[in-house]
Amino acid sequence: MRSSFNRIGKILALILCIAVTAVPISALPVCRADAAEPVVVVIDPGHGGSNLGTDYLPIPEKTYIMVVAMYMKEQLEKYQNVEVYLTHTKDVDMSLKERAEFASSVNADFLFSLHFNMSLSHSLYGSEVWVPSTGQLYSQGYSAANEFLTQFEEMGLFNRGIKTRIGSSGKSDYYGIIRESSLRDIPAVIVEHCHVDNINDTPYIQSPDRLKEFGVRDAEAVARYFGLISKDGRTDYSDYAPLAVPVPSSRVCDDTTPPTYVTADLIKYDQTGKYATVELTAVDEESAIQYYSYSYDGGLTWSALQPWAKGSPTVTVSVSMGYGRKDTLIFKAYNLYDRSTESNVVKLK
Ligand SMILES: [Zn+2]
Repeated sequence: MRSSFNRIGKILALILCIAVTAVPISALPVCRADAAEPVVVVIDPGHGGSNLGTDYLPIPEKTYIMVVAMYMKEQLEKYQNVEVYLTHTKDVDMSLKERAEFASSVNADFLFSLHFNMSLSHSLYGSEVWVPSTGQLYSQGYSAANEFLTQFEEMGLFNRGIKTRIGSSGKSDYYGIIRESSLRDIPAVIVEHCHVDNINDTPYIQSPDRLKEFGVRDAEAVARYFGLISKDGRTDYSDYAPLAVPVPSSRVCDDTTPPTYVTADLIKYDQTGKYATVELTAVDEESAIQYYSYSYDGGLTWSALQPWAKGSPTVTVSVSMGYGRKDTLIFKAYNLYDRSTESNVVKLK
């Protein structure tokens, strides 16, 4: 295992230089490591073989995630009372059903499917975790997801939230690995570490050491979630309490509509300094607002996405107007599911 780390590490070192809606309702279903049986963790490197995953960069997603998965396993095995499996260790094709069947065959307590993300617009950045949409699986998934996102936020990544996604029938989860695991009563989450196609996130994948940090953070999240104690006794999470997530009484659905409305009010226009101070208000009943962007040209072109202050309906932003004929501003606010709504036009003159 070691030698393959080093080999992949060297290959990467050579090439890399280029480049919710929580529903209220009963009980904390977290499985703790103090049970007699060891905790069984299945790590799923989310692609392999002809399934490259994101191939925006010269190195495909499958390569990154195998490196992270191996570091995660190595780190997790430093803890007592845990059995750690990878769904596959070779670069092979494996269906989502086969991955879930493997997890079931080893009596997995949890499956963690590891991924890196990209967006068609290349504008999104940050980390997110997809969780099962029903019952105890939702609660377990949400609680574990919270641990992962806490780790990634500590690394400096933007937190894009914990999400469910329902298939078009409305009766099952959209993502196959979650759906197939749910059928076998195994909690499974999809961990999207960061976006490989956005300049905010690319520093996090630029060296084997940065990838190792993801693996170590992933293991830390799992150790905290299960309350593990390290073999050397130096790390003890047995008293750590992960987020208690009530079991929802019905399916927790994704937000399929954009924010209801967005308003922009000019507070001040500094003609000398050429900047506009604007108060933005965005309302979305179903999910949180997480980014905004602005346009000087009536919506033809848009700025990079800016983080929206979490949980706040209103933010005050300052936009540099620069020089030239810029006398209007329009804003867009984006919700948890990246659906956006445009504001009114702000006239500066
Ligand atoms: Zn992927």
